[in-house]
Amino acid sequence: MPPEPIDTTVTRRTFLKAGVGASAIVTLGAAVRPGLLAAEGPAPAGAAQEVPTPSWIDRPMRWAQLTLVEDDPGKFDLAFWLNYFRRIRSDAVCLSGGGCVAYYPTEVPLHHRSRWLGDRDVLGELVAGCRKQGMVVIVRTDPHATYDDVAEAHPDWIAVDAAGRRRRHWASPEMWVSCGLGPYNFEFMTEVKREIVSRYRVDGVFINRWEGSGMCYCEHCRRNFLAASGLELPRTEDRRDPARQA
Ligand SMILES: [Zn+2]
Repeated sequence: MPPEPIDTTVTRRTFLKAGVGASAIVTLGAAVRPGLLAAEGPAPAGAAQEVPTPSWIDRPMRWAQLTLVEDDPGKFDLAFWLNYFRRIRSDAVCLSGGGCVAYYPTEVPLHHRSRWLGDRDVLGELVAGCRKQGMVVIVRTDPHATYDDVAEAHPDWIAVDAAGRRRRHWASPEMWVSCGLGPYNFEFMTEVKREIVSRYRVDGVFINRWEGSGMCYCEHCRRNFLAASGLELPRTEDRRDPARQA
């Protein structure tokens, strides 16, 4: 029997959906002062509002992404990575900034600094080094999980399953899954991004898992869904269910 032909349309669509659904890039156009658009260069006064897409967006032909893990600040080799970006001729980079773990001396309350950070500013060192090499710099934030101190201070920031239990992380049981559509993302992560953008003048923010991690039944999601649709959050996978459709 001949192999079944592959439907490339569906494959591509599925691929795109998977890629886009998992993360998002927010570029900073009209939302910030002209002076913050580092790769953009200075804009004339009042011009920022008329530039929906930053002009650097078509310039990079090769991107690199360096995703740090919590103990990297204690052992990572700055010169190695900057040299690597230069050798591969990368003209843009995405660097870990904050969210789950902060790689810079954050002042946002409850923003978890890497325990290996010490008095270093790893993000700041990387941003400065990449800028010196003429690279576009965007920062990766990761809002999808958090720690006990946050869960204790703000129990309502944690995602809740259909049975009403707050969700531990599937791979890191010491962490909690955050709610993607409540104050954790809307307020806390907005503060984190504001701090990063104003301090490092980055060209954009990449958000890992920005849309949450499946259905959430926390008080905010239940209340917001009811206000938006007039219905209770669905507890079924049946696509004919009116609440599911909503
Ligand atoms: Zn929620």
